Amino acid sequence: MSVPENLHRIQQRIRLACERAGRDPHDVRLVAVTKNHGAERVSQALDAGCGAFGENRVQEAQEKIPRLPPAEWHLIGHLQRNKARLAVQLFHMIHSVDSERLARALSQAAESEGRSIEILLQVNVSGEESKFGAEPEQVEALARTALGLPGLRVRGLMTMAPYSDDPEDARPVFRGLRELRDQLRQKGLEQLRELSMGMSGDFETAIEEGATLVRVGSAIFDEAE
Ligand SMILES: *Cc1c(COP(=O)(O)O)cnc(C)c1O
Repeated sequence: MSVPENLHRIQQRIRLACERAGRDPHDVRLVAVTKNHGAERVSQALDAGCGAFGENRVQEAQEKIPRLPPAEWHLIGHLQRNKARLAVQLFHMIHSVDSERLARALSQAAESEGRSIEILLQVNVSGEESKFGAEPEQVEALARTALGLPGLRVRGLMTMAPYSDDPEDARPVFRGLRELRDQLRQKGLEQLRELSMGMSGDFETAIEEGATLVRVGSAIFDEAE
């Protein structure tokens, strides 16, 4: 399969998952994850109509993005504070904000670039030690701080499910993120709308649990010739 064929197949599966879940397909966006893939594959996806791309490392993005026509780029991986400025220059949205110190650094960087940046708060729902992300109990305080920072537009939450072959294993994690968002909205944090969750192996489960952004890489790019 080629990149455009894979992409169309994923878009079709997203539509079907929305149908099963009784959701409007316009409420779910695909972020095509291009890490470890060169500009040529990314161009094929751009030409096939994909509008949003994800990278997990600033350095790789810094080499790739300037070589491509304009597109919307999302940083989905861990960000160090000393790369905040570069991240603001390269990305439309940062999915991985998990501390007040990083939120402050990004806000300052955005202000000094004369803009603001969209962010999501990354939550370690599963409690795995190897995962980045704020503890669920810390997210309300983090959200309130981030909402008060002038350079940030706080849009929602992001999580990574533990690795597994069975997408059902991820369901409680996805559900946990949705419930946390709903609780925070009930406490007045209505700016939290987005749920970034679901990857190649489990994006349909994530959509059933309310994902609004799915981050799909290998199913689009790895299996392409
Ligand atoms: C690589 C990556 C993805 C995509 O994973 P695939 O299994 O290739 O679809 C999603 N989110 C993050 C944070 C990643 O690093």
